[in-house]
Amino acid sequence: MRKFKTESKKLLDLMINSIYTNREIFLRELISNSSDAVDKLYFRSLVDETVKINRADLAITVAFDEDARTVTVSDNGIGMTKDDLDKNLGTIAHSDSFEFKQGGLDKPGLDDVSPDGDVAADVDIIGQFGVGFYSAFMVGHKVRVVSRAYGFDEAWAWESDGVDGYTIEAAERSEHGTDVIVYLKADTDEETYGSFATESGLKSLIKKYSNYVRYPIQMEVTKSRMKERPADAGDGYQPEFENYTELETVNSMVPIWKRKKQDVTDEEYNEFYKTDFHDFEDPLRTLSLHAEGTLTYDALMYLPSHAPFDMWSKDYKRGLALYSSGVLIMDKCEELVPDYFNFVRGVVDSADLTLNISRETLQHNSQLRAIARRLEKKIKSELSSMCADDREAYTGFFKEFGRTLKYGIYSSYGMAKDTLADLLLFYSAKQEKMVTLDEYVASAPADAEAIYFAAGDSVERLAAMPIVTTVLAKGYDVLLCDESVDEFCMMALADYAPKDAVEPDGSTKAWPIKNVGGEDLGLTTEEEKKKAEEATEENADLFSAMADALAGKVKKVAVSTRVTEAPVMLTTEGAVSLQMAHLLKEQPGSDEGVPEAQIVMEVNVDHPVFQVLKDAQASGNAQKVADYTGILFDQALLVEGLPIDNPLRFAERVSALMV
Ligand code: ADP
Repeated sequence: MRKFKTESKKLLDLMINSIYTNREIFLRELISNSSDAVDKLYFRSLVDETVKINRADLAITVAFDEDARTVTVSDNGIGMTKDDLDKNLGTIAHSDSFEFKQGGLDKPGLDDVSPDGDVAADVDIIGQFGVGFYSAFMVGHKVRVVSRAYGFDEAWAWESDGVDGYTIEAAERSEHGTDVIVYLKADTDEETYGSFATESGLKSLIKKYSNYVRYPIQMEVTKSRMKERPADAGDGYQPEFENYTELETVNSMVPIWKRKKQDVTDEEYNEFYKTDFHDFEDPLRTLSLHAEGTLTYDALMYLPSHAPFDMWSKDYKRGLALYSSGVLIMDKCEELVPDYFNFVRGVVDSADLTLNISRETLQHNSQLRAIARRLEKKIKSELSSMCADDREAYTGFFKEFGRTLKYGIYSSYGMAKDTLADLLLFYSAKQEKMVTLDEYVASAPADAEAIYFAAGDSVERLAAMPIVTTVLAKGYDVLLCDESVDEFCMMALADYAPKDAVEPDGSTKAWPIKNVGGEDLGLTTEEEKKKAEEATEENADLFSAMADALAGKVKKVAVSTRVTEAPVMLTTEGAVSLQMAHLLKEQPGSDEGVPEAQIVMEVNVDHPVFQVLKDAQASGNAQKVADYTGILFDQALLVEGLPIDNPLRFAERVSALMV
């Protein structure tokens, strides 16, 4: 017996007991896998001439044996080789994917090669965790999988009790495809597992969960008919009945996206989503669209309630499934959704599209672009209204996908700003909650002219930063940005024209967006400036000694007009802030050539520490000036949450101070 790979046992338990609350969904999961397997084979037939199959023959079969207490889901899809069985079913929640979720790996499921050897395609089709199959163990004490891969002569059987491990042995199967046989558990007080092995039980589950699977789901159903009247039957003949079985297609297969919204229940929409997009949670929103006119199409889109595990990997592919008159052309058509809405899942079906599976042709298809524009508007308006009318749901959405929107602004160099800027949320230091840029502006004091933000690695730390408290003390709000993309996004935005802030002449005034750690914030009065200039002049020698002590680290040392409590703070001149320089340096392969921050160490001349420095300078103690300056610089970096160059020397200097 082969053992399940390491995390598997733990995960299996977790999965069985917590991911799915509803045991009956095992059937949906197995049928979805079958549908995927059939899809994979169909895809292959489109791109590989040697694969000859007839689409009309592709089907899924559900069977049961009441006495043996088994339920069997079969398909004539792509099937699995011995290796596939080992890889796909031997590791629960593919250890890669699991580690990825924990932030360990940046490439999920690389060993997840499908029978056609196409890694990327497989990663696409794979559900959220690769756990769907294991839901069979919620109802089964044993599962047997007999599979024969397309193009292979031999078949293999995988078998497991779902506890310790599994076996794989040679088996027989007349055709390519897979049978999954679930041996139902014994009935308990809470659950009568046996009821799954009945015709009515299975039929209703197929209708409930898998009605829109696009391949026929067939069952041998028992029917009754009147026996033919025997020729020698006399007058008193009583008609007799007999049972016979017939293969029946149970699912409707009528595409759900073709139906009018008012005729479909939320539950049906949700089930379709979960089946087709392998999610275990209902979607957050469902958007359906029927367009008629020059271009006729139906679209059904979903905003997921959580990000898929591979969302942030390079292998993640955006796109909607594209159908032409109910026939799948492409699993993920990228052109249908912009990158910044890459989380949207769904289906577009248009009879007007030229049926051509070549990607190139579709890419240059103006019809496709017209549809994409319409869909983008629809998504945008749904998000806007959610943001306005259901902030709780929207905040949840933003937590999952806000990064994508921000990245969209940054990566388009601000070109997507008009679409995305009013969808952004940032944490307001003043209001202590997430706010939109419009809300920031609406609650700003009358004399405010800019949107201020601070960037760092945690909201708590940012809130405590001297410059943030100073700006807050002046009555202005500061947006605390703790995601690494934030500052790049703010830079790409550069300014924001609030929706309602129309000037008397009809124009809208754009508010500049300013980093509180950047150059002049424009918050200094003339009087403060004059005072600072005088102090700079008065202490010119000291400042030049301090600048010498920090040679190569800072551009200059100057009197601060904005730091009120701390002895010093670090600001930057030019486009590169401290946080940004740090992030850039952390990028892999950035050993050379990353832009440096032009750091200014601003000194609070009202702080007692400054007096100490002045005294040291006056008494000619140059070493003390240099050491203390070094400590001040390092401690300012630490306050920002940034690493210091030489922690050992910092510690020695502080210890020396104590002695
Ligand atoms: P998921 O379906 O979420 O990827 P599963 O645990 O349900 O995860 O299945 C793991 C993998 O096993 C699938 O990705 C697929 O490669 C393979 N598999 C499962 N069922 C079948 C089937 N009926 N035919 C072919 N391959 C299958």
